[in-house]
Amino acid sequence: MHMKRCRKCGAPLSISRVRKWNSDGTSTSRFSDSGARFCQIECDEMRCIIEGISSCVGHSIENLQIDCQRKAARSSMDKYLSGAHGLAGSWARTRVVGWPLSARAMNATGVGLGQGYTEMLAHEKGRMCRFRVWHPYCAPLLVGDLWGMFEALNNFTVEAIWVEEGDSITVTLEKVKDDLVWEDPFRRPLKKMPTLPGEVKFDRCERCGVPREFTRSIEWDIRRGIANNRITGRREATIVVEALNAVVGELTVEAGDMVPRALCEIEQDYITGVMGDIALPNTVREYRMLLDEMRVQGMGNPVDVRKEGDVLTVRVDNPFSEPLLAGKVAGYYQVLEHAGPRVTWTSADEGYTMIQAWPA
Ligand SMILES: [Zn+2]
Repeated sequence: MHMKRCRKCGAPLSISRVRKWNSDGTSTSRFSDSGARFCQIECDEMRCIIEGISSCVGHSIENLQIDCQRKAARSSMDKYLSGAHGLAGSWARTRVVGWPLSARAMNATGVGLGQGYTEMLAHEKGRMCRFRVWHPYCAPLLVGDLWGMFEALNNFTVEAIWVEEGDSITVTLEKVKDDLVWEDPFRRPLKKMPTLPGEVKFDRCERCGVPREFTRSIEWDIRRGIANNRITGRREATIVVEALNAVVGELTVEAGDMVPRALCEIEQDYITGVMGDIALPNTVREYRMLLDEMRVQGMGNPVDVRKEGDVLTVRVDNPFSEPLLAGKVAGYYQVLEHAGPRVTWTSADEGYTMIQAWPA
């Protein structure tokens, strides 16, 4: 596959077509009425979160993840196709030519977002489709993505079967009902998060608008659908924030506050694991530099970082997940102070969270 890139900065065009970076520290879908929020996350980090949360609640969370991701993909694509993009939408939904072309566009987007390389193995018009995805960024999220998008594009409800083999996954989707039906519409709601305005400035490409901070840091392996961070060498991908939060919300209802607490600890362990024994000064400036990265990742806007004695206080506007960001702060604290902290965070119901870390 040839990936079309911006002639000015080299960013894949499939990225600037779907994702935008906002001055409030969020990154959202270009299909603005769809409400989807994106963030960039390391694939190993995602894997640790899934394994850690599964062991915290005592069962695999894979089916829940698939369900939330399917809901997010279906709702976002359906809103896009039915909304202001009506003409393009009805074209994409035209079963004669629409689906194979949409599948190709979907692969280009998946490759740009580092989610894997998708090939269509079989397609029966208006009935079924089978894909093989090489190097999936995260198997349950990928199944949910394909499931929800295929439903929305065809305007019918589908059952899915998937088989993982080595580093690929084969997903078969078959129509079971007309129209888009959801068994339990009020469960696992996708919550749109309140956002505060911000003044985040990026070094944006004047042609495609993608921040150069992003394009410079990523190296795309187009044939495999993999995006590696040039600085860390680790694989990253774009995920849908609302789907992740729906999973955490559902599990918190089921198992209580130990779920967000576990999420914080998993993230803290992940950060300390990847940073290792690196020697960094324990100054506010250093904390700011580490936290600044979350803006281009779409994780939020750290507007205030202060340290009084041993107490580190961070305010993040528009956090994508309060416990995950608290875990990040705790991880940085542990590396810079050489001591594991206690950490607290406040709920971002009003669009910001206050995170505090101090010696345990
Ligand atoms: Zn560009």
